[in-house]
Amino acid sequence: MSAPPPYRRSGENPAIRAWATGTTGQADVLRRGAWYPVVDETPEEVVLEVDQAPLRVRREDVRIRADRPTMWSVVVRTGVMRPTLAGQKLVTSYAVCPDCTGRQEFDGEPESMMCTRCRRAAKVDWQTTY
Ligand SMILES: [Zn+2]
Repeated sequence: MSAPPPYRRSGENPAIRAWATGTTGQADVLRRGAWYPVVDETPEEVVLEVDQAPLRVRREDVRIRADRPTMWSVVVRTGVMRPTLAGQKLVTSYAVCPDCTGRQEFDGEPESMMCTRCRRAAKVDWQTTY
């Protein structure tokens, strides 16, 4: 039985230079709304750590920020509308946890949410479109 990979927070891995997320409309290699650590970079490309493996992407395909995000990202689904079992309501968006990148659905416009996966609470970022 092997131990799970160590869970890292920003600052604990000196190789992390910044954080990056895929720009809107980019291919689904990167999960929408999820931020990945940038572990290396060249003038044209950045190397992200995705699922514990390095992934090389072009700079124009990602948005980069210096600090690890602390708020939930809200992803608005486009083209995929599915009715829930509860009734006529259509689920059109979901939030992405800043800590474990788990997806979670929500009702209304909550100011903050608690992650059912990693149990951390964080504010919701309603300003950014993913
Ligand atoms: Zn989480």
